[in-house]
Amino acid sequence: MRGMRDSCIPDSGKAGRTVSYVSFLSMPPLSMPLLIVCMAAILFFPAAQAAESGPGQEPSHVDSPVVDSSVRYDISVHIDPVERTLRGRSVITANTREELTLVIGRRFEVLKALVDDEQIGSSATFGAMRGWRIRGEEKLPRRIEIEWQGELSPLDTSLDHRQTLGQNQPVSGESGTFLPDSSGWYPYLAGKLASYDLSMELPSGQRGLVAGGLMEESESPQGYRARFEFPAPTGGIDLMAGPYIIETRTIRSAGGKPIVLRTYFHREVADLAGEYLDSVKGYIDLYESWIGAYPFTEFSIVSSPTPTGFGMPTLTYLGLEVLRLPFIRATSLGHEVLHNWWGNGVYPDYAKGNWSEGLTTFMADYAYKERESDAAAREMRQGWLRDFAALSPSQYAPLMSFTSRTHGASQIVGYNKAAMVFLMLRDLLGRETFDRALQTFWREQRFRVASWEDLQRAFETASGRNLRVFFDQWLTRPGAPSVRLTEAVRVKAEGESHHVSVTLEQPEPAYRLSVPIAIRTRQGEKIHTVDLENTRQVFSIETGAPPLEVILDPDLRLFRHLMPQEATPILRQVMVNKTTVTVLLPESGPARNAAEVLSTRLQHRAPKLTPGTDNMPATPTLVIGLQDQVDAWLARHELRRPEDIKGKGSAQAWTMRLSDGTTLAVISARDIESLTALTRPLPHYGRQSYVVFEGAKAVSRGTWPTRPQAVKLD
Ligand SMILES: [Zn+2]
Repeated sequence: MRGMRDSCIPDSGKAGRTVSYVSFLSMPPLSMPLLIVCMAAILFFPAAQAAESGPGQEPSHVDSPVVDSSVRYDISVHIDPVERTLRGRSVITANTREELTLVIGRRFEVLKALVDDEQIGSSATFGAMRGWRIRGEEKLPRRIEIEWQGELSPLDTSLDHRQTLGQNQPVSGESGTFLPDSSGWYPYLAGKLASYDLSMELPSGQRGLVAGGLMEESESPQGYRARFEFPAPTGGIDLMAGPYIIETRTIRSAGGKPIVLRTYFHREVADLAGEYLDSVKGYIDLYESWIGAYPFTEFSIVSSPTPTGFGMPTLTYLGLEVLRLPFIRATSLGHEVLHNWWGNGVYPDYAKGNWSEGLTTFMADYAYKERESDAAAREMRQGWLRDFAALSPSQYAPLMSFTSRTHGASQIVGYNKAAMVFLMLRDLLGRETFDRALQTFWREQRFRVASWEDLQRAFETASGRNLRVFFDQWLTRPGAPSVRLTEAVRVKAEGESHHVSVTLEQPEPAYRLSVPIAIRTRQGEKIHTVDLENTRQVFSIETGAPPLEVILDPDLRLFRHLMPQEATPILRQVMVNKTTVTVLLPESGPARNAAEVLSTRLQHRAPKLTPGTDNMPATPTLVIGLQDQVDAWLARHELRRPEDIKGKGSAQAWTMRLSDGTTLAVISARDIESLTALTRPLPHYGRQSYVVFEGAKAVSRGTWPTRPQAVKLD
């Protein structure tokens, strides 16, 4: 069954495709900037199915006539959002002799089902799906004809993003229809990629779409009709409809072919269409010149009545409220557009790890920070390393095992660590070689399934270097290197030449690393890169002037464990670290309830409780209480409120690192009302060391200062 968009359970019935979700799980009050990430669907992709067009053949291409998928769906559907009904007919053509499994959602009534003009046999049900086994057959092509109808669930606009994702039901209403592929709203062959041709009929005033090229469209008082074609083999079909106002703009791709950009917007956001179309054009231009021609003929931005958001080939579906957020155009939109190259243009080999989120994060979210300023890019790297420092060792999954985002920890590895691996690779090979490798990778792998190994090969060919050790250690080793600057000594100067001897150490087994070392002299700071490959190594570095200070990786370009002074504790630590225990100081009543709700919201799980009277636990600890209770608890442990936030606001949350290295996060509220007011906003401030609230509004926040690993020589 399929329907595992955001879970890690392999999905036996589903061929590969990236559906990426813009996540609003951590959406702050609307005025706050934040990092929004999308989420790739977990789609089981048997390696044997890779590159259906076969070696040596032209890879299938949506705008090219030479497309040969072994399975094709010709679907026509009629949807009535007021009656919430769907009626459909599909003819499936399969050019494959193997046994097949036909699947459809159980909620639908099958009116007719013929396999090569014979009645289909009996079905079996599993979960919300019904399936038929269809015997292998020598004679090709095989033809399956099926008609079905059924009722759709009512659209519930009160659902939040997480609930919308979890729902997996076809929903419909006048303000919007969303038929997720995973709901089985149309019959499909399990585990097969397929091209499709889909016609839809909707009542007058409604418009809809699926991924692909819009081939025909008509509107009359009788209703709206549109036909879409997706000629490349793809993994599934999501259908969206609503009372949309469509804006269209045609741009020219790098190769001169037209690309049609559209917005399908509700009236409430129709005025945003122009700027969204401008932004999409900008992103397509950027990635065409960086990677290669846009692989499709269209891109649409579609508004959703629920606060959800995701991206698929040729479109992104974003909540009305989300579209209004000013930073969406500057960040998430570009990320989703880039997935048309990485994820939906080249498919990751999910069985061998998903590289597409890391590469997309690197070339979208991170690239935009680099364009903004060096400081903004450094801040993003620091955020990644701090987030990683917040994990417990049990959460250090190797990058290779990342398939899709299921929780905070998998994002920290699958998106952030992976993006940083690409950064280190670019630092190693140089920007020009790095980009050339990606361009070749794109040319060769377009509409094929590619693995990390294919990427490695592309970088090796472009650079002429053997990158086995680099890829092996970053993909297969869990965790991160710990590099310590243990000694730096000025070596006696000879004439004009000055040297400093620098000792670096790392635990067994050693990583092989290019470590940036900054040497400060009176003339300024200069970065030297040394190759560390042993557990202890001494480097002699020549400096033009007398060295004054040696600093390890001051720009944080190396993926590594930050030392305690480099990683000030942040609130996220007690939110994502699975070993976190919680102390709820109110013992009963409404304050206790409020504290419990807050801790559950922060950790996305029921709190692991420990009594407030116990000794300080040796694991990350979250303490929640009213002001007096918190003061008493702090006094008992000989701790104090930080001076910077003392007495401020109606509530405060802050982190502290204890002398044994344990991270503590304390939430203190003046009264029950102030405590309750934190439930919604506080989870969005995980990147902070402290936040002061006045009611539900954060009035002050920040991170405690950090110190790099450095040795002063004077
Ligand atoms: Zn993504």
